[in-house]
Formats: sequence, structure tokens, C-alpha cells
Amino acid sequence: MGLGPGRQACWYVRYRILRCRNTPVAVCVYCGRPFCRDHGRFLPNEATVCTHPACVRRLTEIEEFKVYKAAAQDRNLTGACGHASCSAPVWGQCSRCRNLFCEDHLSEVYEVYYQLGRRHRRYFSVCPYCRRFYKT
Ligand SMILES: [Zn+2]
Ligand SMILES: [Zn+2]
Ligand SMILES: [Zn+2]
Ligand SMILES: [Zn+2]
Repeated sequence: MGLGPGRQACWYVRYRILRCRNTPVAVCVYCGRPFCRDHGRFLPNEATVCTHPACVRRLTEIEEFKVYKAAAQDRNLTGACGHASCSAPVWGQCSRCRNLFCEDHLSEVYEVYYQLGRRHRRYFSVCPYCRRFYKT
């Protein structure tokens, strides 16, 4: 986490003009901006994230995903679909969170890729939670 000599300042700007004058202590792992002790935080896993709304949102998303994944995993251990309060037997795997779901709770999405100048679609199954991360 090397901070350049002197030229770096905390990313935080109050009322669009007043730049924070505190000395930066670390760099945000998401946006790469330096932050002072007031405008960012140190996570237990040694990652450093600033308090910019976009970075806070991203962090929350990742935390939520972890919680969701663990809960679905527990359900899978009992042989049930990973979706909360669904007791249908598992049918397939979500290709994003890797948990197992019943047929109703898996939907097909695709990604476009190009090979030898031709457009192809790659299909895969995702659970309702992971579905929102795909446009298709
Ligand atoms: Zn950031
Ligand atoms: Zn600051
Ligand atoms: Zn999933
Ligand atoms: Zn289900």
C-alpha cells in the first residue's frame, strides 16, 4: 500500500469544493482513491475501503452475498433447495454462487461471446439471487 510522496490527498470533498486535508492512511481497494482515517475503513481481512457511496454499496453487496451463500449452503446440506423456505429437492447448480437449487429456482441466462468472428451465446443456470447480476 505505497502512498506517493506528498502528492496524494484524501478523496473526500465537502460541498464539492472543500477537499479533506487529513493525511491519507490507505488506498481504497475498489476505486483506488487514497483516504484518511475518517473517510475509509480497514476491514478484518485487511482490505481497505473508502466511504464513497459507490464503494460502500459494493461492499454491502459482497457482504450480503456471503451471508446468502452461507445460508443456501446450510439448506443444501439437508438436501433442500437453497432458496429460503423452499423444500423442493435440488435439481441443479447456480453457476455464480455454486449452491444447489430446485428446478423452479434456477433460470437460464446467457452471455454473448465471439469466436472466429461469429457471435455465440453461452447458456448457464442461475438462482433468483444471482439472476439480477445478468441482463439477459
Ligand atoms: Zn473507494
Ligand atoms: Zn478524509
Ligand atoms: Zn446463485
Ligand atoms: Zn426451490
